[in-house]
Amino acid sequence: MNTSEFRKRGKEMVDYLADYMEDIDRRRVFTEVQPEYLREMLQKTAPGKGEQWENIIRDVNNTIMPGITHRHGDVANFPTGNSYPSILGDMLSNAIRCVGFSWAASPACTELETVVMDWLANMIGLPPVFLHETGIGGGVIQSSASECVLVSLLAARFAAIKDLKRTFPFLEDGVLLSRMVAYRSKLAHSWVEKAAMIAMVNMRELDTDDNFSLRGATLQKAIDEDRKLGLIPFFMCATLGTTAVCSFDNLDELGLICERENLWLHVDAAYAGSAFICPEFQPYLKGIEHVNSFNMNLTKWMLVNYDLSIMWIRDRKLLTTALGVDPLYLQHQNSDQAVDFRADMFITAPNTTSSSTVVAATLTAVAVVVAAAEKNYVFPPTFQHTRLGKKFGDLVRNDSRFEVIGEETLGLVCFRLVGHNYHTQMLLRAINMSGKLHMVPALINDQYVIRFAICAQNACEDDILFAWNVIGEMAVDVLEACRS
Ligand code: PLP
Repeated sequence: MNTSEFRKRGKEMVDYLADYMEDIDRRRVFTEVQPEYLREMLQKTAPGKGEQWENIIRDVNNTIMPGITHRHGDVANFPTGNSYPSILGDMLSNAIRCVGFSWAASPACTELETVVMDWLANMIGLPPVFLHETGIGGGVIQSSASECVLVSLLAARFAAIKDLKRTFPFLEDGVLLSRMVAYRSKLAHSWVEKAAMIAMVNMRELDTDDNFSLRGATLQKAIDEDRKLGLIPFFMCATLGTTAVCSFDNLDELGLICERENLWLHVDAAYAGSAFICPEFQPYLKGIEHVNSFNMNLTKWMLVNYDLSIMWIRDRKLLTTALGVDPLYLQHQNSDQAVDFRADMFITAPNTTSSSTVVAATLTAVAVVVAAAEKNYVFPPTFQHTRLGKKFGDLVRNDSRFEVIGEETLGLVCFRLVGHNYHTQMLLRAINMSGKLHMVPALINDQYVIRFAICAQNACEDDILFAWNVIGEMAVDVLEACRS
Protein backbone atom coordinates (compact mmCIF):
# COMPACT_ATOMS: atom_id res chain seq x y z
CA MET A 1 0.00 0.00 0.00
CA ASN A 2 1.50 3.34 -0.96
CA THR A 3 0.89 6.71 0.67
CA SER A 4 -1.90 7.82 -1.62
CA GLU A 5 -3.80 4.57 -1.13
CA PHE A 6 -3.20 4.82 2.61
CA ARG A 7 -4.76 8.31 2.60
CA LYS A 8 -7.80 6.99 0.72
CA ARG A 9 -8.25 3.80 2.78
CA GLY A 10 -7.52 5.58 6.03
CA LYS A 11 -10.37 8.02 5.44
CA GLU A 12 -12.65 5.15 4.49
CA MET A 13 -11.62 3.35 7.66
CA VAL A 14 -12.57 6.34 9.80
CA ASP A 15 -16.01 6.31 8.14
CA TYR A 16 -16.27 2.56 8.67
CA LEU A 17 -15.48 2.97 12.37
CA ALA A 18 -17.86 5.90 12.81
CA ASP A 19 -20.65 3.90 11.11
CA TYR A 20 -19.91 0.93 13.38
CA MET A 21 -20.07 3.05 16.51
CA GLU A 22 -23.24 4.80 15.38
CA ASP A 23 -25.08 1.66 14.25
CA ILE A 24 -23.94 -0.65 17.01
CA ASP A 25 -27.41 -0.74 18.61
CA ARG A 26 -28.76 -2.64 15.63
CA ARG A 27 -26.36 -5.54 16.01
CA ARG A 28 -27.00 -8.76 17.90
CA VAL A 29 -25.12 -8.46 21.20
CA PHE A 30 -24.05 -12.01 21.87
CA THR A 31 -22.78 -14.09 19.00
CA GLU A 32 -24.35 -17.37 17.87
CA VAL A 33 -21.21 -18.84 16.33
CA GLN A 34 -19.85 -22.24 17.35
CA PRO A 35 -16.24 -23.19 18.18
CA GLU A 36 -13.99 -23.38 15.09
CA TYR A 37 -16.50 -21.42 12.99
CA LEU A 38 -13.79 -19.13 11.68
CA ARG A 39 -11.37 -21.89 10.71
CA GLU A 40 -14.05 -23.27 8.42
CA MET A 41 -14.56 -19.89 6.74
CA LEU A 42 -10.93 -18.89 6.21
CA GLN A 43 -8.40 -20.40 3.83
CA LYS A 44 -6.02 -22.99 5.26
CA THR A 45 -2.77 -21.10 4.63
CA ALA A 46 -1.77 -17.44 4.60
CA PRO A 47 -2.57 -15.70 1.30
CA GLY A 48 0.27 -16.01 -1.22
CA LYS A 49 -0.29 -12.50 -2.55
CA GLY A 50 -1.70 -9.21 -1.34
CA GLU A 51 -5.48 -8.95 -1.26
CA GLN A 52 -7.65 -6.11 -2.56
CA TRP A 53 -8.71 -3.82 0.29
CA GLU A 54 -12.39 -4.18 -0.62
CA ASN A 55 -12.07 -7.95 -0.21
CA ILE A 56 -10.47 -7.59 3.18
CA ILE A 57 -13.29 -5.38 4.41
CA ARG A 58 -15.83 -7.78 2.92
CA ASP A 59 -14.20 -10.63 4.86
CA VAL A 60 -14.25 -8.57 8.05
CA ASN A 61 -17.98 -7.98 7.59
CA ASN A 62 -18.82 -11.56 6.66
CA THR A 63 -16.52 -13.61 8.84
CA ILE A 64 -15.16 -11.57 11.75
CA MET A 65 -18.11 -9.38 12.73
CA PRO A 66 -20.49 -12.35 13.27
CA GLY A 67 -18.09 -13.67 15.93
CA ILE A 68 -17.81 -10.38 17.82
CA THR A 69 -19.72 -9.50 20.98
CA HIS A 70 -21.01 -6.01 20.21
CA ARG A 71 -20.82 -4.26 23.49
CA HIS A 72 -23.70 -1.79 23.45
CA GLY A 73 -26.10 -4.24 25.14
CA ASP A 74 -23.33 -6.11 26.84
CA VAL A 75 -23.84 -5.99 30.57
CA ALA A 76 -21.28 -8.67 31.33
CA ASN A 77 -17.92 -8.31 33.06
CA PHE A 78 -17.03 -4.63 33.50
CA PRO A 79 -16.96 -1.79 30.95
CA THR A 80 -14.24 -1.97 28.33
CA GLY A 81 -13.55 1.65 27.69
CA ASN A 82 -13.37 3.14 24.26
CA SER A 83 -13.94 6.56 22.78
CA TYR A 84 -13.17 8.58 19.68
CA PRO A 85 -10.13 10.28 21.32
CA SER A 86 -8.86 6.86 22.31
CA ILE A 87 -9.10 5.56 18.75
CA LEU A 88 -7.39 8.67 17.41
CA GLY A 89 -4.64 8.37 20.01
CA ASP A 90 -4.03 4.79 18.93
CA MET A 91 -3.79 5.88 15.29
CA LEU A 92 -1.27 8.57 16.12
CA SER A 93 0.93 6.37 18.25
CA ASN A 94 0.79 3.54 15.72
CA ALA A 95 2.15 5.90 13.10
CA ILE A 96 4.85 7.40 15.33
CA ARG A 97 5.80 3.86 16.27
CA CYS A 98 8.25 5.04 18.88
CA VAL A 99 9.73 2.61 21.33
CA GLY A 100 9.94 3.70 24.92
CA PHE A 101 12.17 1.05 26.39
CA SER A 102 14.50 3.69 27.77
CA TRP A 103 14.30 7.44 28.16
CA ALA A 104 16.86 7.84 25.36
CA ALA A 105 14.96 5.63 22.91
CA SER A 106 12.33 8.36 22.51
CA PRO A 107 12.40 10.86 25.36
CA ALA A 108 8.88 12.17 24.76
CA CYS A 109 7.41 8.72 25.44
CA THR A 110 8.81 8.46 28.93
CA GLU A 111 8.28 12.09 29.77
CA LEU A 112 4.68 12.01 28.60
CA GLU A 113 4.00 8.88 30.58
CA THR A 114 5.36 10.33 33.83
CA VAL A 115 3.36 13.54 33.39
CA VAL A 116 0.11 11.72 32.59
CA MET A 117 0.59 9.32 35.48
CA ASP A 118 0.89 12.31 37.81
CA TRP A 119 -2.26 13.92 36.37
CA LEU A 120 -4.19 10.74 37.00
CA ALA A 121 -2.77 10.22 40.49
CA ASN A 122 -3.93 13.73 41.35
CA MET A 123 -7.33 13.15 39.77
CA ILE A 124 -8.07 10.08 41.88
CA GLY A 125 -6.56 11.55 45.04
CA LEU A 126 -3.40 9.52 45.64
CA PRO A 127 -0.96 11.09 48.13
CA PRO A 128 1.96 13.12 46.69
CA VAL A 129 4.43 10.33 47.41
CA PHE A 130 2.92 8.42 44.46
CA LEU A 131 3.75 11.23 42.02
CA HIS A 132 6.88 11.31 39.87
CA GLU A 133 7.12 15.03 40.39
CA THR A 134 6.89 15.19 44.16
CA GLY A 135 7.68 11.75 45.50
CA ILE A 136 10.06 8.87 45.31
CA GLY A 137 7.31 6.81 43.75
CA GLY A 138 5.31 7.20 40.58
CA GLY A 139 3.01 5.52 38.12
CA VAL A 140 3.78 3.25 35.20
CA ILE A 141 1.59 1.75 32.52
CA GLN A 142 1.28 -2.01 32.45
CA SER A 143 -0.86 -4.09 30.13
CA SER A 144 -3.34 -5.39 32.64
CA ALA A 145 -4.42 -5.29 36.27
CA SER A 146 -3.25 -8.88 36.55
CA GLU A 147 0.23 -7.82 35.55
CA CYS A 148 0.19 -5.02 38.15
CA VAL A 149 -0.67 -7.47 40.92
CA LEU A 150 2.05 -9.85 39.80
CA VAL A 151 4.66 -7.10 39.58
CA SER A 152 3.85 -5.80 43.04
CA LEU A 153 3.93 -9.31 44.51
CA LEU A 154 7.33 -9.98 42.94
CA ALA A 155 8.71 -6.69 44.23
CA ALA A 156 7.33 -7.36 47.71
CA ARG A 157 8.78 -10.87 47.68
CA PHE A 158 12.19 -9.55 46.70
CA ALA A 159 12.10 -6.82 49.38
CA ALA A 160 11.00 -9.28 52.08
CA ILE A 161 13.72 -11.81 51.23
CA LYS A 162 16.34 -9.05 51.20
CA ASP A 163 15.16 -7.95 54.60
CA LEU A 164 15.19 -11.48 56.03
CA LYS A 165 18.70 -12.06 54.71
CA ARG A 166 19.95 -9.52 57.21
CA THR A 167 18.81 -11.81 60.02
CA PHE A 168 19.43 -15.14 58.27
CA PRO A 169 22.37 -14.47 55.90
CA PHE A 170 23.13 -18.16 55.34
CA LEU A 171 19.62 -19.32 54.46
CA GLU A 172 18.79 -19.86 50.79
CA ASP A 173 16.11 -17.65 49.22
CA GLY A 174 13.95 -20.71 48.62
CA VAL A 175 14.08 -21.68 52.28
CA LEU A 176 13.02 -18.19 53.32
CA LEU A 177 10.29 -18.14 50.68
CA SER A 178 8.82 -21.37 52.01
CA ARG A 179 8.24 -19.59 55.35
CA MET A 180 6.67 -16.46 53.86
CA VAL A 181 2.93 -15.97 53.55
CA ALA A 182 0.69 -13.53 51.69
CA TYR A 183 -3.06 -12.77 52.02
CA ARG A 184 -6.06 -11.93 49.88
CA SER A 185 -9.79 -11.94 50.44
CA LYS A 186 -11.85 -14.74 48.96
CA LEU A 187 -13.40 -12.15 46.64
CA ALA A 188 -10.06 -11.01 45.19
CA HIS A 189 -9.83 -11.44 41.42
CA SER A 190 -8.72 -14.93 40.37
CA TRP A 191 -5.55 -13.40 39.01
CA VAL A 192 -4.33 -12.64 42.53
CA GLU A 193 -4.28 -16.37 43.18
CA LYS A 194 -2.57 -16.96 39.86
CA ALA A 195 0.06 -14.31 40.62
CA ALA A 196 0.85 -16.20 43.82
CA MET A 197 1.22 -19.42 41.81
CA ILE A 198 3.61 -17.76 39.36
CA ALA A 199 5.63 -16.15 42.15
CA MET A 200 5.60 -19.45 44.10
CA VAL A 201 4.23 -17.63 47.13
CA ASN A 202 2.00 -19.22 49.79
CA MET A 203 -1.16 -17.15 49.84
CA ARG A 204 -4.03 -17.48 52.30
CA GLU A 205 -7.58 -16.68 51.33
CA LEU A 206 -9.47 -14.75 54.02
CA ASP A 207 -13.19 -14.49 54.68
CA THR A 208 -15.16 -11.31 54.20
CA ASP A 209 -17.86 -9.84 56.44
CA ASP A 210 -21.60 -9.58 55.68
CA ASN A 211 -20.90 -6.69 53.31
CA PHE A 212 -18.31 -8.77 51.41
CA SER A 213 -15.52 -6.61 52.80
CA LEU A 214 -12.25 -7.94 54.23
CA ARG A 215 -11.83 -6.45 57.70
CA GLY A 216 -8.79 -5.76 59.82
CA ALA A 217 -9.70 -8.22 62.56
CA THR A 218 -9.75 -11.10 60.08
CA LEU A 219 -6.32 -10.18 58.75
CA GLN A 220 -4.91 -9.71 62.25
CA LYS A 221 -6.18 -13.14 63.32
CA ALA A 222 -4.58 -14.78 60.28
CA ILE A 223 -1.27 -13.01 60.90
CA ASP A 224 -1.25 -14.05 64.56
CA GLU A 225 -2.01 -17.67 63.67
CA ASP A 226 0.69 -17.75 61.03
CA ARG A 227 3.33 -16.16 63.24
CA LYS A 228 2.59 -18.81 65.86
CA LEU A 229 3.35 -21.43 63.20
CA GLY A 230 6.69 -19.74 62.50
CA LEU A 231 5.56 -18.23 59.21
CA ILE A 232 6.47 -14.73 58.01
CA PRO A 233 3.55 -12.60 56.74
CA PHE A 234 4.80 -10.16 54.08
CA PHE A 235 2.09 -9.18 51.55
CA MET A 236 -1.59 -8.33 51.47
CA CYS A 237 -3.65 -7.66 48.34
CA ALA A 238 -6.79 -5.64 49.10
CA THR A 239 -9.50 -5.01 46.53
CA LEU A 240 -11.51 -1.84 46.09
CA GLY A 241 -14.40 -2.91 43.85
CA THR A 242 -14.35 -6.71 43.72
CA THR A 243 -15.13 -8.38 40.42
CA ALA A 244 -17.97 -10.53 41.71
CA VAL A 245 -19.97 -7.96 43.65
CA CYS A 246 -18.04 -4.65 43.65
CA SER A 247 -17.47 -4.68 47.39
CA PHE A 248 -14.69 -2.73 49.09
CA ASP A 249 -12.15 -4.12 51.52
CA ASN A 250 -11.60 -1.91 54.56
CA LEU A 251 -8.41 -0.15 53.59
CA ASP A 252 -8.25 1.91 56.73
CA GLU A 253 -8.23 -1.13 59.02
CA LEU A 254 -6.03 -3.26 56.77
CA GLY A 255 -3.55 -0.42 56.23
CA LEU A 256 -2.87 0.14 59.91
CA ILE A 257 -2.27 -3.57 60.44
CA CYS A 258 -0.01 -3.93 57.39
CA GLU A 259 2.09 -0.99 58.53
CA ARG A 260 2.40 -2.30 62.08
CA GLU A 261 3.11 -5.87 60.97
CA ASN A 262 5.46 -4.88 58.12
CA LEU A 263 3.36 -6.21 55.24
CA TRP A 264 3.44 -4.74 51.73
CA LEU A 265 -0.11 -3.57 51.02
CA HIS A 266 -1.20 -3.65 47.39
CA VAL A 267 -4.59 -2.32 46.30
CA ASP A 268 -6.33 -3.71 43.23
CA ALA A 269 -8.88 -1.10 42.12
CA ALA A 270 -9.07 -2.26 38.51
CA TYR A 271 -12.69 -1.19 38.01
CA ALA A 272 -13.49 1.17 40.87
CA GLY A 273 -10.29 3.23 40.59
CA SER A 274 -11.75 5.68 38.08
CA ALA A 275 -14.68 6.39 40.40
CA PHE A 276 -12.35 7.98 42.94
CA ILE A 277 -12.25 11.03 40.68
CA CYS A 278 -15.70 11.72 42.10
CA PRO A 279 -15.53 13.16 45.63
CA GLU A 280 -18.36 10.97 46.92
CA PHE A 281 -16.26 7.83 46.43
CA GLN A 282 -13.11 9.21 48.05
CA PRO A 283 -14.01 7.75 51.50
CA TYR A 284 -13.15 4.29 50.13
CA LEU A 285 -9.55 5.50 49.89
CA LYS A 286 -9.32 6.17 53.62
CA GLY A 287 -6.08 4.46 54.67
CA ILE A 288 -4.35 5.05 51.32
CA GLU A 289 -1.39 6.53 53.21
CA HIS A 290 -0.47 2.98 54.31
CA VAL A 291 -0.53 1.54 50.80
CA ASN A 292 2.65 0.48 48.98
CA SER A 293 1.24 -0.01 45.50
CA PHE A 294 -2.07 0.59 43.76
CA ASN A 295 -3.52 -0.33 40.38
CA MET A 296 -6.49 0.70 38.29
CA ASN A 297 -7.54 0.14 34.68
CA LEU A 298 -8.12 3.08 32.39
CA THR A 299 -9.54 0.51 29.99
CA LYS A 300 -12.50 -0.15 32.21
CA TRP A 301 -14.11 3.16 33.01
CA MET A 302 -11.92 5.88 31.58
CA LEU A 303 -12.89 5.53 27.95
CA VAL A 304 -9.44 4.33 26.95
CA ASN A 305 -9.02 1.35 24.65
CA TYR A 306 -7.18 -1.85 25.65
CA ASP A 307 -4.49 -2.41 26.98
CA LEU A 308 -3.99 0.04 29.76
CA SER A 309 -3.59 -0.51 33.46
CA ILE A 310 -1.69 1.79 35.71
CA MET A 311 0.34 0.79 38.67
CA TRP A 312 1.52 3.37 41.16
CA ILE A 313 4.19 2.56 43.67
CA ARG A 314 5.23 4.45 46.79
CA ASP A 315 8.95 3.85 46.27
CA ARG A 316 9.93 3.01 42.72
CA LYS A 317 13.42 1.91 43.70
CA LEU A 318 11.75 -1.18 45.17
CA LEU A 319 10.87 -2.19 41.63
CA THR A 320 14.24 -1.24 40.20
CA THR A 321 16.15 -3.29 42.70
CA ALA A 322 13.73 -6.22 42.52
CA LEU A 323 13.39 -6.52 38.79
CA GLY A 324 15.91 -4.25 37.13
CA VAL A 325 18.32 -5.39 34.45
CA ASP A 326 20.89 -3.22 32.77
CA PRO A 327 22.12 -4.52 29.40
CA LEU A 328 24.70 -2.41 27.59
CA TYR A 329 22.44 -1.76 24.59
CA LEU A 330 19.89 0.02 26.79
CA GLN A 331 22.33 2.25 28.66
CA HIS A 332 22.61 5.94 27.84
CA GLN A 333 24.33 9.03 29.11
CA ASN A 334 21.23 10.43 30.86
CA SER A 335 20.57 7.27 32.89
CA ASP A 336 21.25 9.07 36.14
CA GLN A 337 18.71 11.83 35.68
CA ALA A 338 15.96 10.16 33.67
CA VAL A 339 13.29 7.61 34.50
CA ASP A 340 13.87 4.48 32.44
CA PHE A 341 10.69 2.46 32.47
CA ARG A 342 12.48 -0.70 31.30
CA ALA A 343 14.27 -0.87 34.63
CA ASP A 344 13.08 1.90 36.90
CA MET A 345 9.49 0.87 36.82
CA PHE A 346 9.69 -2.55 35.20
CA ILE A 347 7.40 -3.62 32.45
CA THR A 348 6.80 -7.33 32.47
CA ALA A 349 5.95 -7.81 28.81
CA PRO A 350 8.78 -7.94 26.25
CA ASN A 351 9.84 -4.34 26.28
CA THR A 352 10.08 -3.50 22.59
CA THR A 353 6.57 -4.54 21.72
CA SER A 354 4.94 -3.39 24.90
CA SER A 355 6.58 0.00 24.69
CA SER A 356 4.70 0.85 21.54
CA THR A 357 1.50 -0.17 23.32
CA VAL A 358 2.55 1.90 26.27
CA VAL A 359 3.06 4.94 24.10
CA ALA A 360 -0.19 4.33 22.29
CA ALA A 361 -1.95 4.01 25.58
CA THR A 362 -0.34 7.09 26.99
CA LEU A 363 -1.36 9.16 24.05
CA THR A 364 -4.90 7.91 24.20
CA ALA A 365 -4.94 8.63 27.89
CA VAL A 366 -3.83 12.15 27.14
CA ALA A 367 -6.69 12.60 24.74
CA VAL A 368 -9.18 11.37 27.28
CA VAL A 369 -7.72 13.21 30.21
CA VAL A 370 -7.58 16.42 28.24
CA ALA A 371 -11.15 15.83 27.17
CA ALA A 372 -12.02 15.21 30.80
CA ALA A 373 -10.53 18.45 31.94
CA GLU A 374 -12.01 20.52 29.16
CA LYS A 375 -15.43 19.02 28.76
CA ASN A 376 -16.04 17.25 32.03
CA TYR A 377 -16.18 14.11 29.90
CA VAL A 378 -14.89 11.41 32.20
CA PHE A 379 -17.41 12.04 34.88
CA PRO A 380 -20.69 11.31 33.08
CA PRO A 381 -20.09 7.55 32.70
CA THR A 382 -19.34 7.21 36.39
CA PHE A 383 -22.31 9.28 37.48
CA GLN A 384 -24.62 7.87 34.88
CA HIS A 385 -23.65 4.23 35.42
CA THR A 386 -23.95 4.58 39.18
CA ARG A 387 -27.36 6.22 38.87
CA LEU A 388 -28.55 3.55 36.42
CA GLY A 389 -27.18 0.82 38.69
CA LYS A 390 -29.39 2.11 41.50
CA LYS A 391 -32.36 2.30 39.15
CA PHE A 392 -31.84 -1.30 38.04
CA GLY A 393 -31.37 -2.42 41.66
CA ASP A 394 -34.73 -0.82 42.57
CA LEU A 395 -36.47 -2.59 39.69
CA VAL A 396 -35.10 -5.94 40.87
CA ARG A 397 -35.97 -5.32 44.52
CA ASN A 398 -39.54 -4.39 43.63
CA ASP A 399 -40.13 -7.76 41.99
CA SER A 400 -40.67 -10.47 44.57
CA ARG A 401 -39.36 -13.19 42.22
CA PHE A 402 -35.87 -11.70 42.52
CA GLU A 403 -33.35 -10.61 45.12
CA VAL A 404 -30.30 -8.32 44.98
CA ILE A 405 -27.09 -9.62 46.53
CA GLY A 406 -24.69 -6.99 47.88
CA GLU A 407 -24.96 -3.27 47.35
CA GLU A 408 -25.04 -1.48 44.02
CA THR A 409 -22.33 1.05 44.89
CA LEU A 410 -21.15 1.71 41.33
CA GLY A 411 -22.51 0.34 38.07
CA LEU A 412 -22.75 -3.33 39.06
CA VAL A 413 -25.88 -5.06 40.35
CA CYS A 414 -25.80 -8.73 41.35
CA PHE A 415 -29.20 -10.39 41.35
CA ARG A 416 -30.79 -13.83 41.32
CA LEU A 417 -34.13 -15.57 41.27
CA VAL A 418 -35.21 -16.36 44.82
CA GLY A 419 -34.74 -20.07 45.43
CA HIS A 420 -32.48 -22.72 44.03
CA ASN A 421 -29.31 -21.70 42.12
CA TYR A 422 -30.50 -23.80 39.21
CA HIS A 423 -33.30 -21.32 38.41
CA THR A 424 -30.84 -18.45 38.06
CA GLN A 425 -28.54 -20.60 35.95
CA MET A 426 -31.42 -21.36 33.60
CA LEU A 427 -32.38 -17.71 33.48
CA LEU A 428 -28.86 -16.62 32.53
CA ARG A 429 -28.67 -19.21 29.80
CA ALA A 430 -32.01 -18.06 28.35
CA ILE A 431 -30.97 -14.39 28.44
CA ASN A 432 -27.68 -14.99 26.67
CA MET A 433 -29.28 -17.24 24.07
CA SER A 434 -31.75 -14.50 23.22
CA GLY A 435 -28.86 -12.46 21.81
CA LYS A 436 -30.40 -9.28 23.23
CA LEU A 437 -28.16 -9.05 26.28
CA HIS A 438 -25.00 -10.63 27.50
CA MET A 439 -24.32 -11.24 31.18
CA VAL A 440 -21.97 -13.42 33.23
CA PRO A 441 -22.50 -15.15 36.58
CA ALA A 442 -20.62 -15.08 39.88
CA LEU A 443 -20.73 -17.33 42.92
CA ILE A 444 -21.04 -15.34 46.13
CA ASN A 445 -21.10 -17.41 49.31
CA ASP A 446 -22.43 -20.35 47.30
CA GLN A 447 -25.20 -18.25 45.81
CA TYR A 448 -25.25 -18.19 42.03
CA VAL A 449 -25.88 -14.62 40.89
CA ILE A 450 -26.13 -12.82 37.58
CA ARG A 451 -23.90 -9.77 37.28
CA PHE A 452 -25.57 -6.83 35.60
CA ALA A 453 -22.68 -4.47 34.89
CA ILE A 454 -23.54 -1.29 33.06
CA CYS A 455 -20.88 -1.05 30.40
CA ALA A 456 -22.01 1.06 27.44
CA GLN A 457 -20.47 4.50 27.46
CA ASN A 458 -23.78 6.22 26.70
CA ALA A 459 -26.10 3.86 28.55
CA CYS A 460 -29.41 5.51 29.42
CA GLU A 461 -32.60 4.76 31.32
CA ASP A 462 -34.25 3.21 28.26
CA ASP A 463 -31.45 0.64 28.08
CA ILE A 464 -32.08 -0.35 31.68
CA LEU A 465 -35.82 -0.68 31.09
CA PHE A 466 -35.18 -2.68 27.92
CA ALA A 467 -32.84 -5.04 29.82
CA TRP A 468 -35.29 -5.43 32.68
CA ASN A 469 -38.10 -6.31 30.25
CA VAL A 470 -35.95 -8.97 28.58
CA ILE A 471 -35.01 -10.41 31.99
CA GLY A 472 -38.64 -10.33 33.15
CA GLU A 473 -39.91 -12.13 30.04
CA MET A 474 -37.23 -14.81 30.32
CA ALA A 475 -37.97 -15.25 34.02
CA VAL A 476 -41.62 -16.09 33.26
CA ASP A 477 -40.55 -18.87 30.86
CA VAL A 478 -37.82 -20.21 33.15
CA LEU A 479 -40.03 -20.32 36.24
CA GLU A 480 -42.79 -22.00 34.27
CA ALA A 481 -40.36 -24.59 32.91
CA CYS A 482 -38.99 -25.22 36.40
CA ARG A 483 -42.50 -25.74 37.78
CA SER A 484 -43.52 -28.28 35.12
N1 PLP B 1 -8.95 -7.03 39.35
C1 PLP B 1 -10.27 -6.75 39.37
C2 PLP B 1 -10.89 -6.23 40.62
C3 PLP B 1 -11.03 -6.93 38.21
O1 PLP B 1 -12.34 -6.67 38.24
C4 PLP B 1 -10.40 -7.43 37.04
C5 PLP B 1 -11.18 -7.66 35.82
O2 PLP B 1 -12.34 -7.38 35.72
C6 PLP B 1 -9.03 -7.72 37.08
C7 PLP B 1 -8.35 -7.51 38.26
C8 PLP B 1 -8.31 -8.25 35.89
O3 PLP B 1 -8.12 -7.19 35.00
P1 PLP B 1 -7.17 -7.33 33.73
O4 PLP B 1 -8.00 -7.96 32.68
O5 PLP B 1 -6.77 -5.94 33.39
O6 PLP B 1 -6.01 -8.18 34.12
